[in-house]
Formats: sequence, C-alpha cells, structure tokens
Amino acid sequence: MTVRVRIAPSPTGNLHIGTARTAVFNWLFARSQGGQFILRVEDTDLERSRPEFTQNILDGLQWLGIHWDEGPFFQSKRMDLYRQQIQALLDRGLAYRAYDTPEELEEMRAAQKARNEAPRYDNRHRYLTPEQRAAYVAEGRPAVIRFMIDDEREIQWPDLVRGTVTWKGRDLGGDMVIARQAGGDEIGQPLYNFVVVVDDIDMSISHVIRGEDHIGNTPKQILLYEALGATVPVFGHTPLILNQQGAKLSKRDGVTSISDFQQMGYVAPAIANYMTLLGWSPPEGMAEIFTLEEAAQSFSFTRVNKAGAKFDWDKLNWVNSQYLHQMPIAQLTDLLIPYWQKAGYEFDWQGQRPWLEQVTHLVSQSLTRLEEAVPMTEYLFAQTLAYTPEATAQLGQPGATTAIAAIAAAIPSTPLTEAEAQAIVQQVVKAHGLKKGLIMKTLRAALTGSLQGPDLVQSWLLLNQLGQDQLRLQQALTLVEG
Ligand code: GLU
Repeated sequence: MTVRVRIAPSPTGNLHIGTARTAVFNWLFARSQGGQFILRVEDTDLERSRPEFTQNILDGLQWLGIHWDEGPFFQSKRMDLYRQQIQALLDRGLAYRAYDTPEELEEMRAAQKARNEAPRYDNRHRYLTPEQRAAYVAEGRPAVIRFMIDDEREIQWPDLVRGTVTWKGRDLGGDMVIARQAGGDEIGQPLYNFVVVVDDIDMSISHVIRGEDHIGNTPKQILLYEALGATVPVFGHTPLILNQQGAKLSKRDGVTSISDFQQMGYVAPAIANYMTLLGWSPPEGMAEIFTLEEAAQSFSFTRVNKAGAKFDWDKLNWVNSQYLHQMPIAQLTDLLIPYWQKAGYEFDWQGQRPWLEQVTHLVSQSLTRLEEAVPMTEYLFAQTLAYTPEATAQLGQPGATTAIAAIAAAIPSTPLTEAEAQAIVQQVVKAHGLKKGLIMKTLRAALTGSLQGPDLVQSWLLLNQLGQDQLRLQQALTLVEG
C-alpha cells in the first residue's frame, strides 16, 4: 500500500503548536514509509477562516522544514464535489432532510435533560411521510441534511496509537447533520465530518493521523466511508499537548502559535525536534537532539505515547540552546541581525560583518533564545551608554577615577590586542597600587554601564574596534567628576 497522509489545518488562527506537531508526525510517518504528505486547508468555516491565517500556516510549516508533496488544496474550492456526494447519499436513502426549527430542537433537548438523558437528535424526521414533508416545504421551512446512524451498530478500529477503539452507534448523538440549513431542494454548507471524508477518499489518504481531540469524530467518519463505498483508512490519534495543569494547551496559555515561538527566538530545527519529543520517544541509544530526517529513519507509532504530553519550557529551552551553541557563527549572526535591527540598533550591518561575528561569538554560548542577544549586547551598540545604579556607585569608589584615567592614558592608538589589554590592567595595578578586582569592576562599569555581562576583555576589544572605549572612559570620568 502506498502511504499517503495529510495535515488538514483550519485557517481560523495562526499555526498552533498542536497542529504543527500533528504535521510533524504525519511527515515523519510519510518519510519513514516512503509515502506522500499532503496539505489540505480546511477553510469551510467561512466566517472564521481568514487568508492571513492560511499564510501564517503555510509559512510556519515551511519554516519548520515540513515540506508537503501535494497541495495546498482548499476545501472552499471543492464545494461542488461535496454537494454531489451529499446528493448521492440522499438519492440512496442514506441521508434525509430534517425540517426541525431551532425552537423544536431546544424543546427536545430540554425534555431529554429533564429525563436525565444525554442530549441527542431523536431522529424524528427520519421517516416523514411525503405529506408531512410537503407541509414543511409549503411552510417555507429550511432543512439540514442528516446522515442516518444506526444505534445498534458497534464501530471498531485498530488505532495506531491507542490499539482497538470501540464506539456504540447510540453514543453518536443520533442522525448527524452533514449540511447546514437551506431552503427547498438546495443543499446548505457541507460540514466538517462529511467533507473530511470526501476529501480523504478523493485524495486516496491511507492513514489519518491527527490529534486525540478528533477521536469522537472517527466513528461517524467510518460510517460515512462505508456509506460512500470507500475503504476505511488506518487511524492514529496522537496524544494532546497539555499545559502545566494537565489541560489541553490553548490560547489562554499564552504562547501557542509557531510564529510566536519564532519571534521569541526559538530556531526551527529546535522547535521541530522538541515537538517530536512531545509524544514520541526515540529508540534506545538515539540522542535527544536530532533532525527530522534522522527521526524519520527510526520513527514508528510503537514509540508514540498514549498519554498527553506536558509542554515543558525548560526542556524546550534546553533543546534550543543545544542548537544555538552548536550553530556556525556566520549562520547565528544571520539569525541575530533581524533581532538587533528590530530593537532599533543602528549599525553598518554589511560593512562591519566581521565585528558582528565577534559579537555573536562573544554571546553564543550564553544564549537560550535568539531574542536574548538583544539585551546582552545592548552596551556594544549603544550610542549613549546608560548606567545601572550599581555601575554608577562603582564609578564613585575610591581609586576608580585613578584607574580609569590610567587605563585611558595607556590605550594604544593601534587596534588593541588581548595581550595589550591584559598588560594595561597589570600595569595599573603596579603603578597605582590598586586591586585588580577594583580595576576590572570599574572598567566594566565605565565601558558597559553595568557590573554584569559578557567577558570584559573581549567586550573592551570590540568597543576598541569601534573607537568607543576611549569615549566611554572619558564619559565615565565626566560623570564622576561632574
Ligand atoms: N481541520 C481539522 C483541525 O484543524 C483537522 C481535521 C482532521 O485532521 O481530520 O483540527
């Protein structure tokens, strides 16, 4: 059998991490089986679907490196096909028009509630007489289309993740609506559970791999496959991504869309890697840091967990830092430039490339996220340096101005080297009898405006290349001496 899988996002929001993770599992499975991965945009909900969300989803998948072999197909362009198939079910007596008004349905539910019964459609319009039907039509009542569900049926499927799953027909809520209301002979807007089946048949999907939140749709869809005379695909329901409280990760949990993670400075291979770990355990002996290509070689559903996976920021940060720490400096610099630019730092980004790469090198091993490079390197880009209260206090310490003046006097006019910088500090220790600790702390305060930060000598060399070290030492002296 040729493996054909798909991801079918609804463009009613930005690419959600749960959808992206489902895409990853589909992609991994397709690659591991030499199959195809198809992208279908489920934009049938016309009110909530928006083109900018579609764009965000396509961009996000591409950014993550989850490339699709076919598509994107858009459901909104395929309405004729769905209506034809609904008509076929009507013609074969497997579906029917139901004319209930919202008030009648409400009344029915209230009565069920009063009897302590689960809400369901009681199939009351399933066998209307031609006269009854004609009367409703004459009244001008619109109708939904309902697909008949046999209460006595037991529906079973071998789930790739969950093993055998069994549902009873009577637990499916009665005959299901497959098209919204429309008047006369019209067929209203076809609904999700129906169109997804038509599409999966039409696109020869062999395996439907999706989030566990869809598990209740599967028995209904299996009945639709049978009614449409198609082979039922293999289903696999992957565990949900949970928040710290153990509930499904939702918009209320803050950052959940791939573009948010991207903006915060997580890199694509790290996100893809972490999402794979959320629900899949690599086989023994395989490291936790891997590319999607590597994961595809060992991917199988036997190692997909049944239980939901808690989203763990610490783990994600660790995975991301592994990628950042190992990334070639040139590549990391390319990724950092947009963050510096967005922060408003002004610089000759192309002309001063070697300097930028040194800055990257200076902070690369401390980064967990790209965004963190902005505050970490602010002192290097600053046109006017701001001082923390601790730095200002340090500059006021006895001996501080002596140290600054002595260092300023010793800086050569040629570019400063690391050995020269070290020698200058030693020389000031000797000449003025000052403690090295005091000199270094004061120098840091004067050059960077803070008492914490990346390596001091390297920072000094970088500022020296810009001709900024002298300026800053003079500025510090002015500050203290008033
Ligand atoms: N459009 C559905 C969703 O975004 C996916 C449906 C499916 O995979 O069958 O959740």
